[in-house]
Amino acid sequence: MSDIIHLLPDSVANQIAAGEVVQRPASVVKELVENAIDAHATDITISIVDAGRTTIQISDNGVGMSETDARMAFERHATSKIKDASDIFHIRSMGFRGEALASIAAVSQTELKTRQKDAELGTKICIAGSKIESQTPDACPQGTTFTVKNLFFNTPARRKFLKSNQTEFNYILAEIYQTAIANPQISFTIYKDGDLYAKYDKGNLMQRIVKIFGKTMEKGLLPIEDESDIVKIYGFVGLPEISRKNGANQFFFVNNRFFRQKSFLSSVLRAYGNLLPQKEYPPFFIFFEIDPSNIDVNIHPTKTEIKFSDEFNICQLLEATIKCTLGKNNIVPSLDFSDSADYTDMFSKKTDRPVTPPTIKYNPEYNPFKTKSSLSYPNQQANTRNWEKLFEEYETNKKDESLHFDFSSGNTCADEQTKELSIQFCTQIQKKYILAFANEKIYVIDIKRAHYRMLYDQFFDSFTHKQMPSQKTLLPIRIDLTADESETLKTLLPQLQELGFDIEEFGQNSFVANGAPADVPIGELPQVVTDFITNYSENNKTVKDSVQEQIAQNLAKAASLYRNPNMTVEEMQHFVAQLLQNKSFTITPEGQIVTIIVEPDDLLKKFN
Ligand code: ADP
Ligand code: MG
Repeated sequence: MSDIIHLLPDSVANQIAAGEVVQRPASVVKELVENAIDAHATDITISIVDAGRTTIQISDNGVGMSETDARMAFERHATSKIKDASDIFHIRSMGFRGEALASIAAVSQTELKTRQKDAELGTKICIAGSKIESQTPDACPQGTTFTVKNLFFNTPARRKFLKSNQTEFNYILAEIYQTAIANPQISFTIYKDGDLYAKYDKGNLMQRIVKIFGKTMEKGLLPIEDESDIVKIYGFVGLPEISRKNGANQFFFVNNRFFRQKSFLSSVLRAYGNLLPQKEYPPFFIFFEIDPSNIDVNIHPTKTEIKFSDEFNICQLLEATIKCTLGKNNIVPSLDFSDSADYTDMFSKKTDRPVTPPTIKYNPEYNPFKTKSSLSYPNQQANTRNWEKLFEEYETNKKDESLHFDFSSGNTCADEQTKELSIQFCTQIQKKYILAFANEKIYVIDIKRAHYRMLYDQFFDSFTHKQMPSQKTLLPIRIDLTADESETLKTLLPQLQELGFDIEEFGQNSFVANGAPADVPIGELPQVVTDFITNYSENNKTVKDSVQEQIAQNLAKAASLYRNPNMTVEEMQHFVAQLLQNKSFTITPEGQIVTIIVEPDDLLKKFN
């Protein structure tokens, strides 16, 4: 039998290896920007065409490369950053594996122009699918420019695997944010399809965060700081008020390298305890400075997973630092550090005592999210009066039947139409439900779901024929978004206008709202809009409904969550009447129960 094993040519090996490093255009941006940072650049320009499918260009004013290095840079395992294996444990640079350029050049048509400071001429190299096509002297500026064209031109399966331009561009933005936040001393200029998209001037960390994520961050973030023998922790954590449903804007960096780690995230969330609204997560920008020999960054090709030798203790310190910051700012009502008064000094003193997190004593009655409302909650007297009224009505209308409740199965018939409605009685249960009596029936209504149902139908109707009544805001309301959120909002503005939203762009990643459809909680407009965008971006990837359906559903859901459940009796009556006139008032578009109806017959059975 003949031998069948052979060595793969470099170009094929590179292409296979590229699969690990270069998964999508954003990976190229990450690797090239990291190289620019390692080359001590102070200005980096990123230019993206067609979400990186057509062109990704990264220019820097860093140290540049010699003619020989420029050629060497594309070889696999060619790096200037480490010499032997032990160097990996002292690494301060972003790269060290020497495989990014080899991988990128294997799956694209790449051009490199580079010149060192004192060199008269620079070098230009063109390489496609790992094959050098030309190498010539070039009068380029000092620094390095990589132009990566037609990514995955020779791996069509990979190209097909890419998502929409918007999604791919969002991935690119996410990579840029990570690097830009870690390096506020470097200016970043971003072009998208030939137009200037964003410019982040050199500044401090807070200025960079505000520039990227908007002004809400300025007041919404608290600085954290702690230093011990094992780690220095610094950065910012968000106030509970600016927490978000999708856990966006959460950044951990170790020695300026972005990473993700569940145990660290859990520590942050534990520090907040029950201060966060349900299923909401705070933004944070947390930096760890640590001796590089105590971490291993080489466990994953993209280096976003990192092993910490002291993970447990660092997590405990992190939790304590955040708790302490929240406590100092009165975010936690009463914080008692007496059990661990020397806690943060523990590591400097090098004691062998095990680390325990400080205990928090807090007042369980305290609710930091309780906001004073201008609307009054139906008071006790009104309730009692209405109960009495209910029984009076019952007495007077009483026929010969006895009545029967069946709360367990609750009638939820979907198309019940209620005409000439008179709501004889209304009260609230736990600020969550309305109990109403009308047309000889008892209705138990979930307020938020009911509001969702009504808004959904109204939005859907106004897309098809009717114009929704609009309410003007007293003053323009400013909505600050992240760059990717504002991209999404821009594409949806025409439809939102059809619905009665008066929103326009106002500078970079900012919008102003001058009006919104009636029934949308106008005071909460910024939250409604951001939640809507989050819902929309998450859901439209999976469900194949029309854009209008998607908008109606996600927008109605976002707005209903901010519905103030406090209503006067009159407001409740109006709300119930409006709901019951709706075509389908018993279930949400997803089929969750909105209204339980108890008919006299049900009562009859119950009292049997
Ligand atoms: P690594 O970053 O892991 O060393 P890369 O393949 O990304 O590997 O880059 C290979 C080498 O090319 C780097 O070690 C560096 O010497 C050089 N290089 C890459 N990009 C730049 C740049 N923008 N400026 C200067 N040198 C660069
Ligand atoms: Mg690199």
